[in-house]
Amino acid sequence: KAADIECKLVVLGSGPGGYSAAFRAADLGVDTVLVERYATIGGVCLNVGCIPSKALLHAAAVIDEAEAIGAHGISFGKPKIDIDKLREFKTKVVGQLTGGLAGMAKQRKVRIVQGTGSFVSANEMEVETADGKKLIRFENAIIAAGSQAVRLPMFPWDDERVMDSTGALELKDVPKKLLVVGGGIIGLEMATVYAGLGSEVTVVEFMDQLIPGADADLVKPLAKRIGGKLKGIHLKTKVVSAKATKKGIEVGYEGDSIPDTTVFDRVLVAVGRSPNGNKIGADKAGVAVTERGFINVDTQLRTNVPHIFAIGDIVGQPMLAHKATHEAHVAAEVVAGGKSHFDARVIPSVAYTNPEVSWVGVTEREAKEKGLKVGVGKFPWAASGRAIGIDRTEGFTKLIFDEETHRIVGAGIVGVNAGELISELALAIEMGAEAADIALTVHPHPTLGESVGMAAEVYEGTITDLY
Ligand code: FAD
Repeated sequence: KAADIECKLVVLGSGPGGYSAAFRAADLGVDTVLVERYATIGGVCLNVGCIPSKALLHAAAVIDEAEAIGAHGISFGKPKIDIDKLREFKTKVVGQLTGGLAGMAKQRKVRIVQGTGSFVSANEMEVETADGKKLIRFENAIIAAGSQAVRLPMFPWDDERVMDSTGALELKDVPKKLLVVGGGIIGLEMATVYAGLGSEVTVVEFMDQLIPGADADLVKPLAKRIGGKLKGIHLKTKVVSAKATKKGIEVGYEGDSIPDTTVFDRVLVAVGRSPNGNKIGADKAGVAVTERGFINVDTQLRTNVPHIFAIGDIVGQPMLAHKATHEAHVAAEVVAGGKSHFDARVIPSVAYTNPEVSWVGVTEREAKEKGLKVGVGKFPWAASGRAIGIDRTEGFTKLIFDEETHRIVGAGIVGVNAGELISELALAIEMGAEAADIALTVHPHPTLGESVGMAAEVYEGTITDLY
């Protein structure tokens, strides 16, 4: 059959992985087609992930701050919330970014085909478009089809009061009682948003800690502060049944800390994301997909089929946008004939909760499990002039060093702007910085960032009188 479109490269999926790959490839002179089933490009991150959640978290943080300053003599009263306006703001933010991407695609002459794509052979993809099926013949493909929220089967998903993160970000209303199932990053970010807007939020998490990927000490100040804003946080507890009733979604629990509320106006299920590897006809192209739907790749992001690459959430953890974009650049450069490899030492993680939690590299728990000899320098923000000045002393900065080389191998921060502060430490790890490099770097005063230098001094033993 004659192809409708011929190209050197087809990119399947237009999230941070897909659009970054398409743009880099086009910039390198590769004739590129980008396939996306939705009307806007940007994927989960821009449309229903990173960006809208941060716009709403900003609103929640302002409400929180306005409330907190009441203790220092400035009162604004109870916030009046116009949910339609707030939703409009969020939609505008998303639109600005996705619209910008569409312009960037056009500028680069990346052809966008809107429809659901599926491989039919190792060099052909069929796209189900509004005008029927289109056959694309390609020399190379980059799979960037991402992931989607796991839907626990015990919930009545046909009832609109049961939501995944996409539903929660729609912000249809401010439910009086909201249950958040899952105390990971996404669950807690949305809990922060809805609690800020006035919902009574209950969180259940079946592990023994919120944000199970982070060190327990980092999560403690967060649990303490948001604990005061939520109806309850219930660890080692899970939802085992759920049914739709007139009064709300009624759930049953099992575990150590059973909440006293069982009927909720809305339920957000945020228990993880599963990759879309099994939904793209990968087998027709000969691309191996794991049982869970991941696609294994080498350091050039090549699948087992050498001219087909995969990037982003679909190739594994951590499922983060900045990992996807870096992998995208490597894959695109290799398609263009380059010799790039993905060899990031570390990929930082951030929970944009209030306070934020961020970490990078080896955690203390990992060091223990792997028997690594590490030492820790911890600087409590109670000793930071800046943190005291903004009345947010609950945070701390923790650096983890190899005991033999004194090189930094990991870091964790909890506190206001922890997400902004972690980049310096990602750079320090990439550059192989030693404790002395960090301690001797002059940090501006008074900033929260100073705590990074101070934590290195604590490790070096030049600050000794903190505790
Ligand atoms: P995706 O963004 O998932 O994009 C895949 C695209 O492929 C989608 O547009 C999809 O429609 C399309 N597609 C799939 N199959 C087909 C097909 N067969 N045909 C055509 N198109 C197809 N990460 C961060 O780093 N920071 C954050 O703050 C953050 N916040 C998040 C908040 C939420 C609520 C969620 C859900 C996620 C968040 N993430 C965050 C994760 C981040 O969104 C993902 O890691 C990132 O989007 C992955 O990019 P990707 O390119 O791999 O895939």
